[in-house]
Amino acid sequence: MKVFEGKSVFSGIAIGKISIFQKADTSVKRFHIEDVEAEVKRVDEAKATALAQLQKLYDKAVQEVGESGAAIFEVHQMMMEDGDYLDSISNIIRTEGVNAEYAVATTGDNFASMFASMDDDYMRARAADVKDISDRLVRVLSGHGDGDMEASEPSIIVAEDLAPSETVQMDKSKVLAFVTRKGSSNSHTAILARTMNIPALINIEYDDSVNGMMAIVDGKNGTLILEPDEKTLKKYQELKDEELRQRTMLRELKGKQTETKSGRKLHLYANIGSTADVASVLANDAEGIGLFRSEFIYLEKDNYPTEEEQFQIYKTVAQNMAGKKVIIRTLDIGADKQIDYFNMAHEENPAMGYRAIRICLDRPEVFKTQLRALFRAAMFGNISIMYPMIISVKEVLQIKEIVAEVKKELTEQGIPFKDDVEQGVMIETPAAVMISDLLAKEVDFFSIGTNDLTQYTLAIDRQNAKLDNIYDSHHEAVLRMIKMVVDNAHKEGIWAGICGELGADTTLTERFVEMGLDELSVSPTFVLPVRKIVREMD
Ligand code: PEP
Ligand code: MG
Repeated sequence: MKVFEGKSVFSGIAIGKISIFQKADTSVKRFHIEDVEAEVKRVDEAKATALAQLQKLYDKAVQEVGESGAAIFEVHQMMMEDGDYLDSISNIIRTEGVNAEYAVATTGDNFASMFASMDDDYMRARAADVKDISDRLVRVLSGHGDGDMEASEPSIIVAEDLAPSETVQMDKSKVLAFVTRKGSSNSHTAILARTMNIPALINIEYDDSVNGMMAIVDGKNGTLILEPDEKTLKKYQELKDEELRQRTMLRELKGKQTETKSGRKLHLYANIGSTADVASVLANDAEGIGLFRSEFIYLEKDNYPTEEEQFQIYKTVAQNMAGKKVIIRTLDIGADKQIDYFNMAHEENPAMGYRAIRICLDRPEVFKTQLRALFRAAMFGNISIMYPMIISVKEVLQIKEIVAEVKKELTEQGIPFKDDVEQGVMIETPAAVMISDLLAKEVDFFSIGTNDLTQYTLAIDRQNAKLDNIYDSHHEAVLRMIKMVVDNAHKEGIWAGICGELGADTTLTERFVEMGLDELSVSPTFVLPVRKIVREMD
């Protein structure tokens, strides 16, 4: 007798023969497509077929495990019709000129890794679902049938991982237990197993020799016992309906406009620090990303991120946002964000020191690497570039020179990039405010960084806890500056927004709309509260 220890996701004891489950091959190839619109149409047709398959699975599951257990197939249907998901697929087909299977698989991988890197256990478990629907679409596109096979004889199903559709299509009366190497207790396979009253274990490090062996699954203690000599069976019901309901409720909040009753529209974007935050941006229905603090890419590493590493990150974000605006701020280190490998000297007053664009202009090789990655990634979505801590027109002209060099080099090297990328500056110094009329002639947009603007206007170090009570972003000086920036932007026909924390201050939302701000970019969780205020305005 041999015992493997794992984790139980549903209690109970099963005794029977082990059957190792083999997955269908869903690997896809990438190839160039001339008629991209026809390819987009193929996805549309495949989606209809896949939805019909899911409906069949739903009906089957309702009969076998009841409505709550079948709900996952409704969720899959919703996921498959999700605008962000479908937009990402068509965006990849159109921008890269590639086949539908590849676009679906890439979107599936991107979305799955986005969910997988989230903090919330439930959201993390959704990675398997998005992979599942993508695999289904790929199978339909490549004519591989529905992949919904039948289980053979009563057995303990042992697998690397199990997708919900693979789980439910098995004849319930023939499945004694599920045992997987991977998976999580919040996966829908686990939920289904609970609903089906079938013991289920995860994290079992089995080897292939177990195939065909008699075994006990002890769902109480989380063990798989090979060649057992006794039998017991227990059942538990632990459903995750609450989490499903929450997700459904969140979806219901999506799709509403951010506009006043009289029809004045505001662009409402979200701030992120990594690709993992994109899921939250979409879940909270932000219209785009108004500030991607790219320095976090540098902060997470112990050496300079390469052009390729950065390119992949920006590309993924752009693809996941599927044509929605993604404003990426170039490296803003220094002050409170110190990075060892930059080898920066100690400074008495780092907030007023060597930071952000000053470092980039001083170290063009670092700046250029990032710019190359950005202009290349811009091919894959709607990327804008934003430069932090600007104090002069001269800096903007220097940036333009470096950008021109980067483009020239990319052209000479035959590396594809997007030429007409929207470029703006952050207005976060009083100097930038006072020359915003001049800056507006040189850039495409302004984004006001109220965190720094407040610190520099009030001469209060934003890191100094002692001064927290007088660090006042509502100070009339700050608010007047915002108004001045908006007016100067509009005189030159460019847009102005806020990406500092103040943008999420709902006590000021009305005032911001009245000032004429075109955009607010806030933490994802503030998107809906701000939208609510705007929609209540006349
Ligand atoms: C700001 O200063 O308001 C801003 C958005 O940038 P950060 O907070 O990253 O300095
Ligand atoms: Mg700032």
